[in-house]
Amino acid sequence: MDMNAFYIGCEMTRIPELKGKPAAVAGDPKNRGGIILSPNYDARKFGVRTTMLIHEARKLCPEIIFVPPEHSFYSHMSGMVMDILARYAPVIQQNSIDEAWLDLTGCEKLFGKPVEIAEKIMNDIKNELDLWCSIGISENKFLSKMASDMKKPLGITELWESEIKSKLWPLKVREMYGVGKQSEKKLNNIGIYTIGDIARTDKRVLVREFGKYGEEIHMLANGHDPSPVDSESYAENKSISRSTTLGEDTTDIEYLKDILLELSEEVGLEARRQDYSGKTVSIVIKYSDFQTITRQKAMPQAYLTKEIYETGVKLLEDNWNRTRPIRLIGIGIGGTSEEKVQQISLFDLTEEKVDTRKEEKLEKTLDAIKERYGVGAVKRARLITTEKEHKS
Ligand SMILES: [Mg+2]
Repeated sequence: MDMNAFYIGCEMTRIPELKGKPAAVAGDPKNRGGIILSPNYDARKFGVRTTMLIHEARKLCPEIIFVPPEHSFYSHMSGMVMDILARYAPVIQQNSIDEAWLDLTGCEKLFGKPVEIAEKIMNDIKNELDLWCSIGISENKFLSKMASDMKKPLGITELWESEIKSKLWPLKVREMYGVGKQSEKKLNNIGIYTIGDIARTDKRVLVREFGKYGEEIHMLANGHDPSPVDSESYAENKSISRSTTLGEDTTDIEYLKDILLELSEEVGLEARRQDYSGKTVSIVIKYSDFQTITRQKAMPQAYLTKEIYETGVKLLEDNWNRTRPIRLIGIGIGGTSEEKVQQISLFDLTEEKVDTRKEEKLEKTLDAIKERYGVGAVKRARLITTEKEHKS
């Protein structure tokens, strides 16, 4: 599964005015030399492409709208996409912020044929997150990755080993997953231009020219990829985070703590809903001049609002120069804790564990109330009092 125009797609979900207009996420839009990171499909119609310079894009498409990147938001959305994938396959390997492999072995009885599962996934992502993706289906990771690139946007493509001669071999070497600009040049230099050329070249020639890499591309070009879908990397990359751009830039720590508490509550609620506990807490701060820092701290288990919040406040206090106004703040948990969510024996209750247990009970009760009556139904006292102060 590979997301289509992911960054700008995320932006279009929160800035609906961008829809139907050419737009792109671009690094430092105020700077003419800034670079296009993610153009939407309306901008691509004009020839705007990733890595183009801003002024080049503007020449092609004068009405294009630029949005500065906010990576914490994209990784938050990425987490939501991965959660949808996790409904359909027990084994998932996240390959980057916007793509992942799913091992559907044995999933057919539950959800149908691979094509049907792909349709369900695409629809869920579209309906629930308002984002687009493409999906490739095959018997190994390399071929499915190649297939996912063949129809964009919103394409589902099957590419089986029996079809590689007709579908894969005619492609230019540059389109092969794992072949960059440098390798393309070197391959072209010895007369290899298509993936088929790689497949048909004597393996010994490729090994002589490129060593181990030569052996690997020869194998892949022939449609073989023995590497398994490795779910460890999904667990390692998993994260839940929330961030918010403030109404106005602030240096008021009490106000920032309130915001952190609200965000921690959302993160904790989501973690407990998924039975997930992270092993780090991280915060992101964007200053008024757009400089952004992230800091993190390891924890045995991060899933309780109170602990996420307290760790976040500590990170904020330790890393923020109080004179610099903050524009955006976020908090999240990440990684996957080795420890399972606690099953404490009655004979094993240290004072600390009793506290954790109590807090967990309290938070689960709050979660239940929120599920039933809405997120605003119960609030921590800290938020009620300070909300009044801030209004006055
Ligand atoms: Mg991708």
